[in-house]
Amino acid sequence: MAKVLVTQQIGDEGVQKLREAGHVVTYRDDTEPMTPAELQTAVRHSEGLVCLLTDRVDTAVLDAAPNLKMIANVAVGYDNIDLAAATQRGVLVSNTPDVLTETTADHAFALLLAIARRIPEADAFMRADKYEKFEMFPPLLGLDVYGKTLGIVGLGRIGAAVARRGALGFGMKVLYTATEAKTAVEQELGAERVTLPELLRQSDFVSINVPLTSETRHLFTLDTLRQMKPTACLINTARGPIVKEADLLTALREGIIWGAALDVFEDEPRMVSGLAQQHERLVVAPHLGSATGETRRKMVDTAVTNLLAGLSGQTPPNALNPEIVGQADE
Ligand code: NAP
Repeated sequence: MAKVLVTQQIGDEGVQKLREAGHVVTYRDDTEPMTPAELQTAVRHSEGLVCLLTDRVDTAVLDAAPNLKMIANVAVGYDNIDLAAATQRGVLVSNTPDVLTETTADHAFALLLAIARRIPEADAFMRADKYEKFEMFPPLLGLDVYGKTLGIVGLGRIGAAVARRGALGFGMKVLYTATEAKTAVEQELGAERVTLPELLRQSDFVSINVPLTSETRHLFTLDTLRQMKPTACLINTARGPIVKEADLLTALREGIIWGAALDVFEDEPRMVSGLAQQHERLVVAPHLGSATGETRRKMVDTAVTNLLAGLSGQTPPNALNPEIVGQADE
């Protein structure tokens, strides 16, 4: 039976399942991530690791854990883990795709509607007792969503689910980028693959759904934002560092784009200086993409299922480096 470290609070059910399988679990029932030094110490004797996206699993952590066999990330994005270094050391890594796709797409669309129809501004307006008269052209005029053009940057699982909401629910024309053509989604939704500059030029709403990689870090800078329509909105539910946040603030202040809705930030949990004071045409949420009780529980269950499979020598259903299964026995 293996020693397993659970780095942060994931709820008792998941921990129970690991213990029932006979593993010796060190459960850090805490909502604060450990410091890098604390993580390196805590993981020292572990064979299994269950971690969250706020745990940075880099070479220092991997080197501190010579017995480590498997890392189960409770997230679909795995930019917090050095996958190449883990693979090189024969450590399996898994994530939690699919179970959060629809929930995260719901959130992306909620943010899209909130920015277009200025819902947080309207809410604040009412609470400040500013609604004195009905006006034909009120200060909080919004944007139409129905029939507009939706640009999906990264038409993967979540991107396609956002596209589906736009095309089927709101009659939107869908443009997208991806590393490969998505013919099934093209046929289903009439989506069209274009280059990023073309997507930026044509879209009324741009939804970022790519993973954070060395290629996508700062994909959106002032230069990129200038290619968008001045009437367009940017929605980011992927990862904060894909957008250079200071540049986005400039773009909002100077009216280079109409609005933005952000679920993720470059240096979470902080926002770049000045962003919190930007009340107009900016909607912000504290990384809630997959945050419903049902979905978070499914994510934990998926991570635990992956870990149990990996520790028993099977290929975890969501292994990111399945090629190393059984390698140590060869
Ligand atoms: P996915 O299925 O892997 O989709 C990612 C898509 O991005 C793929 O279609 C991929 O294209 C495309 N892509 C990758 N690099 C690209 C590039 N340089 N240019 C253009 N397209 C590129 O992943 P997913 O399940 O949809 O999740 C997407 C991301 O959402 C995750 O990585 C995570 O960071 C984020 N997320 C955030 C939350 C939240 O709480 N806010 C929740 C869940 C996920 P190919 O398919 O052609 O390779």
